[in-house]
Amino acid sequence: MSKSITKIGVLTSGGDSPGMNAAIRSVVRTCAFHNIECIGIYRGYQGMIEGDFKEMGPRSVNNIVNKGGTVLKSARSVEFRTPEGRKKAYEKLTEAGIDAFIVIGGDGSFTGAEIFNNEYNFPVMGIPGTIDNDIFGTSHTLGYDTALNTVVDVIDKIRDTASSHNRLFFVEVMGRDAGHIALNAGIGAGAEEILIPEEDLGLERLLESLRKSKASGKSSSIVVVSEGDKIGKSVFELKDYVEENLPEYEVRVSVLGHMQRGGAPSCFDRVLASRLGVKAVESLLEGKSNFMVGILKDVIELTPLEQAIKGEYPIDLELVRVSDIMSI
Ligand code: ATP
Repeated sequence: MSKSITKIGVLTSGGDSPGMNAAIRSVVRTCAFHNIECIGIYRGYQGMIEGDFKEMGPRSVNNIVNKGGTVLKSARSVEFRTPEGRKKAYEKLTEAGIDAFIVIGGDGSFTGAEIFNNEYNFPVMGIPGTIDNDIFGTSHTLGYDTALNTVVDVIDKIRDTASSHNRLFFVEVMGRDAGHIALNAGIGAGAEEILIPEEDLGLERLLESLRKSKASGKSSSIVVVSEGDKIGKSVFELKDYVEENLPEYEVRVSVLGHMQRGGAPSCFDRVLASRLGVKAVESLLEGKSNFMVGILKDVIELTPLEQAIKGEYPIDLELVRVSDIMSI
């Protein structure tokens, strides 16, 4: 392995997601394993600009593998979007002797890293941390599996009350541009219909499906709606629309919101975080840079940051068909 990198910085950036702490732990311990220094960069790129750094050793990441959020804190930095801001960041990194960094975040954070790499030829690696699973080059982003489990758990609880009162619930889940959470959690929780940004079900088909559901003797109905669903109505507008057109239904709305981003990471996310962290550090030590470390068909793979940013991980259309069959 190349010895040119001796000190690696690690930061979390953009929205937090469960599994970020497990990834920080993995990066720190992999550095220690290879006798490389590791520096925690606090508050994302803003902390990089301000030199908010702290040395991290294997014992400084005790007992965080199971914790949601991020011990390094996260932030959105407007200043890093400017050449002046990035120059300050470069000066702070150089002053501290940091010669590469690993950013755990979403596509915005990767864009910042790529621009920085192009400007300063500074070695960077990305680890995908976002619950939306909307990044090309990885079948799973950190936090996605945990978010799915959280959503399924909550919908199970909502169904208890829905079936006690013969109600229809619209449950809004996160996913402005990608319906991964809605589709998978919807199938897992037995939703009657799932509305996602990638497919326009159409209002008429939704009504038809709900009519059929009632006629077939179902005692409750759950419709999972992705934030950015294509049907073009908010969950509250959908409620009004259905109540106007199907007066036999008593409709309620539940917007799950930020609870989906919190909580202890699932075992899957902890293992994934550990694997991605190891690969990110070792790839830098092998002289690689400007990649995202992801997982595809259970193999840890590198994808150029540029591709990871521009592409997206598509939903599996077979899942849409499975969902239709399950809601018969
Ligand atoms: P999430 O999926 O939660 O939105 P993200 O990483 O996409 O995560 P962003 O807010 O888009 O979150 O980006 C995080 C940070 O990355 C920004 O606050 C900014 O500091 C940096 N960043 C994003 N885009 C750019 C850019 N074009 N140039 C420089 N820096 C950027």
